[in-house]
Amino acid sequence: MLNQLDERTKNYLQAIRNNLHFLGENGGECLSLKEILTKKGLIEKTAIKELWKDEGFNFTTILYQYTIDGVTKFCAEVWVQYDIDGVYTHTFIFSQRPNQEQVETIRLVSELETKFAINQLKPTFTCWECDQKSHWLDSGKNFEESYENLKESYCGC
Ligand SMILES: [Zn+2]
Repeated sequence: MLNQLDERTKNYLQAIRNNLHFLGENGGECLSLKEILTKKGLIEKTAIKELWKDEGFNFTTILYQYTIDGVTKFCAEVWVQYDIDGVYTHTFIFSQRPNQEQVETIRLVSELETKFAINQLKPTFTCWECDQKSHWLDSGKNFEESYENLKESYCGC
């Protein structure tokens, strides 16, 4: 069974998504934007434009702008190679054009939520340094720092 998130964490992660005009995500072994549109029978009537492509250390991101029935959206496609011939495709949809940093933030929000859901991380933890119990959102001055500190079980003291 998946873990329920506390209200504070839920609201915080939702606020990040809203601020970045995030609409939704999809993921799977063969679920690129083009494959999703093909499956839905929409590929023919969709205008797709590639905006940028980033070769990272262990993942690749392509940003697409696509228009269906006059509505334009943006899709960041992130590929993560998890073993020698396994590639996981994650797609993140936005209503406004994100930059690479914003795509990475959304990717991390999704990753963190998964870690909470499978109990790999908990929103509250005991700091290895000062032995105090802390909520992850009190441990850093922004999302990235709080997430890093949570992974280290460090409250920021
Ligand atoms: Zn501490």
